[in-house]
Amino acid sequence: MAKRDYYEVLGVGRDASLDEIKKSFRQLARKYHPDANPGDPTAEEKFKEINEAYEVLSDQEKRARYDQFGHAANGAGAGGFGTGFGGFGDLFDMFFGGMGGPSQAGPERGDDLRIDLELTLEEAAFGLEREVEVPRIGTCPTCGGSGAKPGTRPVTCPVCKGTGQVQTVQETLFGRLATVRPCHRCHGTGRIIETPCPDCRGAGRTRQTRKVKVKIPGGVDEGLRMRLSGEGNVGPQGGPPGDLYVFLHVRPHQHFRREGNDLLYQLKIAFTQAALGTELEVPTLDGKTSLKIPAGTQNGARFTLKGKGVPVLRGVGRGDLVVTVEIEVPARLSEKERELLLELARLRGEEVNQERGLFKKMKDAFGR
Ligand SMILES: [Zn+2]
Ligand SMILES: [Zn+2]
Repeated sequence: MAKRDYYEVLGVGRDASLDEIKKSFRQLARKYHPDANPGDPTAEEKFKEINEAYEVLSDQEKRARYDQFGHAANGAGAGGFGTGFGGFGDLFDMFFGGMGGPSQAGPERGDDLRIDLELTLEEAAFGLEREVEVPRIGTCPTCGGSGAKPGTRPVTCPVCKGTGQVQTVQETLFGRLATVRPCHRCHGTGRIIETPCPDCRGAGRTRQTRKVKVKIPGGVDEGLRMRLSGEGNVGPQGGPPGDLYVFLHVRPHQHFRREGNDLLYQLKIAFTQAALGTELEVPTLDGKTSLKIPAGTQNGARFTLKGKGVPVLRGVGRGDLVVTVEIEVPARLSEKERELLLELARLRGEEVNQERGLFKKMKDAFGR
């Protein structure tokens, strides 16, 4: 049986674009698919013919050879076309509507990356923009990710014809059973690199350090993580990049402890200040401010400075600064101070250990 012209088989002109060829192939393949024509040997023959034509015309190199030499061009390889299911990758898309999901067919996505960023409490409260260096796997600048030595190009895999998948069809009791596996020759990439790029050795990716601008909004807290989409590793074989996760840590502050959006501050005051009242300076994130301590303030008393806490993340307003008073009792007293305190105690009728000072004096006088 004389072979029909491939263009004729697909019903397209000699100058047809790849899209036109694909479109026509899909229409014809659908029409003559064995599943659609059970037990019809003519349909099966036609289906094989269509596939064979598509296999050649959809491949730039083969098409060029065919244009030049006709069927003789692929004479040696024609036996390989016998089964004629080379275009099954396309068929699968067509019949199963991408049910397999793009992750199966497309190139693998790159890995996600993690970096840790340490912030001061002020930075966490008010936000900042910082440029960080992220070591990651990026597209090879030498070959632009193709993996082929500059000046050369990857060629279409002869086993899977560039689809990256190999289809096996078995006749079983239950009908035709089709299985799709990644191509062993090209590892599912559909391409073979004959002269690898010297810098990435054909991988198309290299280790790099990339500067990434991280914009941190005000109000973030310890343990929060931000996702910078597309800043992770580039995927193998031109796959999409993963994401970069920035884990935030907040350094302890010399003055404040944070509780949600509130800041806690421990203010040490003298017992005279607590008793008599005073006005003291306290630190805030925005600089110092003065705080009135009323007379008779007790240990553990709390004063709330409204709106002096941490700004609400992506919200309105700020938390409070809560000042807790800690009254300090002097550890050592001068003689004069001691006398005054004794006087005070007597006035208030409070029992105190008056002898303590005297014993100390005697001990000092008589030695150890
Ligand atoms: Zn390269
Ligand atoms: Zn292959």
